[in-house]
Amino acid sequence: ASSYVGFDSITDQIKHRLVKRGFQFNVMVVGQTGLGKSTMINTIFASHLIDSKGRFEADEPIRQTTEIVTNSHVITENGVKLRLNIVDTPGYGDQINNEGCWDPIVKYIKDQHSLYLRKELTAMRDKYILDTRIHCCLYFINPTGHGLRPVDVIVMKKLSEVVNVVPVIAKADSLTMDERLKFKKRIREELAYHSIKLFPFQSDEYDEDEEKENQMIRDMIPFAVVGSERNVILDGKSVRGRKNRWGVINIEDDKHCEFVYLRNFLTRTHLQDLIETTAQLHYEAFRSKQLLALKD
Ligand code: GDP
Ligand code: MG
Repeated sequence: ASSYVGFDSITDQIKHRLVKRGFQFNVMVVGQTGLGKSTMINTIFASHLIDSKGRFEADEPIRQTTEIVTNSHVITENGVKLRLNIVDTPGYGDQINNEGCWDPIVKYIKDQHSLYLRKELTAMRDKYILDTRIHCCLYFINPTGHGLRPVDVIVMKKLSEVVNVVPVIAKADSLTMDERLKFKKRIREELAYHSIKLFPFQSDEYDEDEEKENQMIRDMIPFAVVGSERNVILDGKSVRGRKNRWGVINIEDDKHCEFVYLRNFLTRTHLQDLIETTAQLHYEAFRSKQLLALKD
């Protein structure tokens, strides 16, 4: 028994430090103006954002984003701190000529990698570096029911080379359940056809359970979601939802839409993997390219 070294407790120490310091999680939203990006963010993190800042009042005027803006929030649940950065991008794809509309977004993502690398090269090795790297990019697809637009294909392709892209069908309530299923399948086929590789990636670092969960996500993508910042009455109960010409939607009911799957994926099952994949895959690719260039 005297040979016990005790390094197993190091995981507790790491956990404790991580919990105290908090997770930094940076989410970006991309897509056409009016697709419900701001609404979706407020729906996912709603009560917290309202609590923490008192903005996002229900009758706040329509917010149109004209430049890349970051909103920071700190959420605490059961002693675990989550530092959340929401990065909102200007709507694009509204013009006839969308050439280069993705450039500022891709540049922003690379700039954060560059910032991190500079800090990493100058800071003490064990010092905490503020992380602004984007861990997840929610890509909003128009609910046309037909397929991806050429601009969607190009932008997702460009983005997927530098960040974890998670596609969602915006305003899924404008499609019937049958239309949604067909649209989802069609989009998955187009993504495969254009070799657009999305998170979660194939990797032998996942164990069997993780791989099962990842496959579930791959089969479900794009999430067909509905967002709402208001409550509606359904069967006498007040629920987060929307009214449309077909009836009342409870967005938290998985028979109505896939909002709960997206929220679960983002804030629970894949939160840590999104952060780790950003560091180990996207940032690492950027970093080794930069360091190689320095050598020449
Ligand atoms: P953004 O420009 O992408 O940020 O879009 P907003 O979040 O500002 O939403 C634009 C409009 O669409 C607002 O009037 C929202 O109430 C509405 N909206 C947002 N999400 C949904 C949705 O899931 N379904 C429907 N039908 N309308 C939505
Ligand atoms: Mg917006």
